[in-house]
Amino acid sequence: MIKLSNIEKYYGTYHALRDVNCHINEGEFFSLLGPSGSGKTTLLRTIAGFEEIDSGTVLIGGQSMVGVPPNMRPTNMVFQSYAIFPHMSVAQNVAYGLRSQRLNKAKTAEMVTESLGKVGLAGYGERAAHALSGGQRQRVALARALILKPKVLLLDEPLSALDRKLREEMQSELRRLQRSLGITFVLVTHDQEEALTMSDRVAVMFEGQIAQLDSPQALYKRPASKRVAEFFGAMNILKADILEVKGDIATTRIEGLGVADLAFNPQPCADASSHYCAGVRPELMTILDDGAMAYDKETPATVTDVEYRGELTYYDVKFEGSDTPVVVSMRNTSNRELREVGQQVRIGWESASAVLLLD
Ligand code: ADP
Ligand code: MG
Repeated sequence: MIKLSNIEKYYGTYHALRDVNCHINEGEFFSLLGPSGSGKTTLLRTIAGFEEIDSGTVLIGGQSMVGVPPNMRPTNMVFQSYAIFPHMSVAQNVAYGLRSQRLNKAKTAEMVTESLGKVGLAGYGERAAHALSGGQRQRVALARALILKPKVLLLDEPLSALDRKLREEMQSELRRLQRSLGITFVLVTHDQEEALTMSDRVAVMFEGQIAQLDSPQALYKRPASKRVAEFFGAMNILKADILEVKGDIATTRIEGLGVADLAFNPQPCADASSHYCAGVRPELMTILDDGAMAYDKETPATVTDVEYRGELTYYDVKFEGSDTPVVVSMRNTSNRELREVGQQVRIGWESASAVLLLD
């Protein structure tokens, strides 16, 4: 549906987008995720046609977008501050999306009704916009964007102004809406959880570059770099030496854990001078009970800290020959006793759950 190739964008001397390449599929819920200032809005505005780029190409539905103004593109945008007009009625706000169409009153009313129905606001047309709740205003903004039946809906942090509970409700609702309409959604967000729960695929952006583009599961389980790994929750990072690479397996010596065969897929941006480290998520290691042997690897360690948090207990452990504290999280079950500081334990883990990360 959308193909971005070699996009470069400068604001004066500031390099805002750096060699951005990506494909967004038709009917996909796609997110651009990154910290503030990473270029997400700039990239979204590039797709919408509000930004001039310095080089690269934007194709939408196979058509080059060079010289195509925003209102002639099959996209529509919902902005960060959902600027609805408080002095107008809901229906007038939604009809505003049709202003360039010169339709008669009956047709306009029909389309407004249809669009309000899509966002769960059927019957709200005559209400005053200023009397709506935050979530309802956001739906009005959506209805206004959807009324032109865009093939792609671009959403720039549409939920960031809502409180947590409402935001979570709107997340499931947006996801349902996208599925039922079947159109492509491109969402900008700085919230990892939001991107992971809502999207089919996510492009993670740092400093104007896409660091990784993958499904939510792949981003969490197989992050490509230390930075992406740490962006999605806790990750133990250990020094690693790759001893030998055979196909897509790298025999690696991991600090404290010893030698293991890890999956290896070199990143496009990596070269001979690239450094790797190894990462293991805290929940993918376990303190073994006596006699238990269900894990592919077993490494002795000493408990250095215990933090009980109700559902989980977080243990800091140290492996022999390593000074790096490693966090192991254990689910608390009725028959599992807490370990104590200073206790010698065996840590079970799998080669398959350790990932090589670009440093
Ligand atoms: P994000 O949406 O990820 O927070 P933006 O795309 O808005 O990031 O901005 C990326 C970078 O470009 C930021 O450092 C921002 O200050 C800069 N920037 C954005 N718009 C402009 C502009 N119109 N002029 C100059 N710099 C800009
Ligand atoms: Mg932004």
